Amino acid sequence: MGSVEAGLAAVREAVASAARAAGREPGSVRLIAVSKTYAAAAVRPALTAGQRDFGENRVQEAQAKWPTLKAAFADARLHLIGPLQSNKASDAVALFDAIHTLDRDKLAAVLARECAAQRRTPELFVQVNIGAEAQKAGIAPGEAVDFVRRCQTAHGLAIAGLMCIPPVEDEPTPHFAALGRLAAAAGVGRLSMGMSGDFAAAIATGATDVRVGSAIFGARPGGAGINHASG
Ligand SMILES: *Cc1c(COP(=O)(O)O)cnc(C)c1O
Repeated sequence: MGSVEAGLAAVREAVASAARAAGREPGSVRLIAVSKTYAAAAVRPALTAGQRDFGENRVQEAQAKWPTLKAAFADARLHLIGPLQSNKASDAVALFDAIHTLDRDKLAAVLARECAAQRRTPELFVQVNIGAEAQKAGIAPGEAVDFVRRCQTAHGLAIAGLMCIPPVEDEPTPHFAALGRLAAAAGVGRLSMGMSGDFAAAIATGATDVRVGSAIFGARPGGAGINHASG
């Protein structure tokens, strides 16, 4: 078994055992393999091993990498987990099956227009800046419930759930729990939270979508940043 297959197998097992420890069905947690910065050749063994959900944080990188992979694995599903500029929304709607980073009205309006024009319905998550960090993307926690409602009513978008990235220096569990309370208040079901270092804690707190990169694919060249500046 190559290192990607081994990493994937280990993460799958850890996801399943975290789910069982929390009294949850392992199948209730969707593993998104975050393939940003890794070349198509590194991603292919994960596809061969049956992994189907993948996360990318840049539209252009995904456009360059995925058409050939999708030609061989047509049922692969792509998740955009990085910030989305309005001028890339059309490309994002065309390529991605889920967008985890909806965080402002202007983007909601453009996504609604593009979804209608392209007759596509990517699964949408509202990103919440759960630690209220100045440099991080996401809607403020205090505005999240109203924003979800505006997405649904003013923009006519179906919202699947909420997404967050806790501050790196904090204990993540209180932030995961806070996101869960916001989702309950907003009446949305999915929680996209948890990465390589904290996915077990996220699953214990109710994550339905964990986004795991380096634990599967290995250390990322250059330690590419997480969801900060626009991409
Ligand atoms: C890179 C990234 C991940 C995966 O991070 P790892 O620590 O490699 O698992 C998850 N979520 C977002 C938003 C990211 O940008």
